[in-house]
Amino acid sequence: MAGQKKYTITLIPGDGIGPEVTSAARKVLAAAGVVVDWEIVEAGQQALEKHGTTLPDETLASIKKHKIALKGPLATPIGEGFRSVNVELRKSLDLYANVRPIRSSLGISVHHSSIDIVIFRENTEDLYAGLENEIAPGVAQGIKIITERASTRIARFAFDWSQYYGRRLVHAVHKANIMKKSDGLFLNSVRKVAQEYPEIEYREIIVDNCAMQMVMRPEQFDVMVLTNLYGDIISDLGAGLVGGLGLVPGANYGEDLAVFEAVHGSAPDIAGKNIANPLAVILSAEQMMRYLGEDHVANHIKHAVIVLLTEREHLTPDMGGTATTSELTEKLISEIVH
Ligand code: NAD
Repeated sequence: MAGQKKYTITLIPGDGIGPEVTSAARKVLAAAGVVVDWEIVEAGQQALEKHGTTLPDETLASIKKHKIALKGPLATPIGEGFRSVNVELRKSLDLYANVRPIRSSLGISVHHSSIDIVIFRENTEDLYAGLENEIAPGVAQGIKIITERASTRIARFAFDWSQYYGRRLVHAVHKANIMKKSDGLFLNSVRKVAQEYPEIEYREIIVDNCAMQMVMRPEQFDVMVLTNLYGDIISDLGAGLVGGLGLVPGANYGEDLAVFEAVHGSAPDIAGKNIANPLAVILSAEQMMRYLGEDHVANHIKHAVIVLLTEREHLTPDMGGTATTSELTEKLISEIVH
């Protein structure tokens, strides 16, 4: 199309089902009318085999240059000497805010129909700092780092976002009754930020009660702000409530860059079988289009996904159907109307 804007976006296809689902997302984006020059780089298991490192310098350089990336899941080899490549990536780029919308309106859960929660997970510290030691034979320690700076930053991100989108209630999720210093610092930091937004109701909930309440009455939650580990666990729990990991998108934001990725991992049990659900990464791509201001492209994608989920005839096995990844993708493309 003459005069159409063209974007250069870094693509990390990723491990396991990553190449299958990111390829589906690229096809859907193209059908929705956005012109993207993809700079394809590697990370994870594949990068380790080719480059001897799970996070090559050129991968980081590409994201720093273009300031935007779509990422497939990355597998971290299990064993000594390998830090999580996802944690490395988020820390190296200071992607401090992990945002995960959990919505039953798009889900296929038969148990819930009115869940609309947005999870803001702090992405750079907590037990994910990688500070672990064996201090004596049979005794290991993991160090939980919580800072006022990072806690305040994620809280401000969550409240600013809530204000912008007219959300009414923010829950801080914690275990400050036990971890008085670390979770206590997180909670105090969020509390201070909350005072600056009197129009948004603020509540606090202990993480174990939060898990139970999520299962019993998830519709009571609106926006949640959590430390890294609780955010990881509660967002997978939320994914389970709305139809599974194949449906939940995500985004990681830093000061001036963003990496979009599904919540799920590389799913090695189904990799290469053409049965993975590509919707989570396609919905991550939809979020990416909104971030770029391409709302009409995002709306095309959202419309096609809603039709697909409503008709229920081209669903992958994780959603109770028999369609392949390719068949689902073709159906989505056929539903994109210009
Ligand atoms: P996983 O998310 O890969 O899989 C959990 C279960 O959900 C599996 O049964 C899988 O088949 C299913 N599943 C996940 N995504 C699916 C999809 N799109 N369609 C259909 N079914 C899907 O979690 P895991 O097995 O704990 O982790 C596997 C690897 O992924 C590990 O190496 C882990 O470190 C990595 N991981 C990466 C990320 C990331 O890159 N952001 C996130 C989580 C896990």
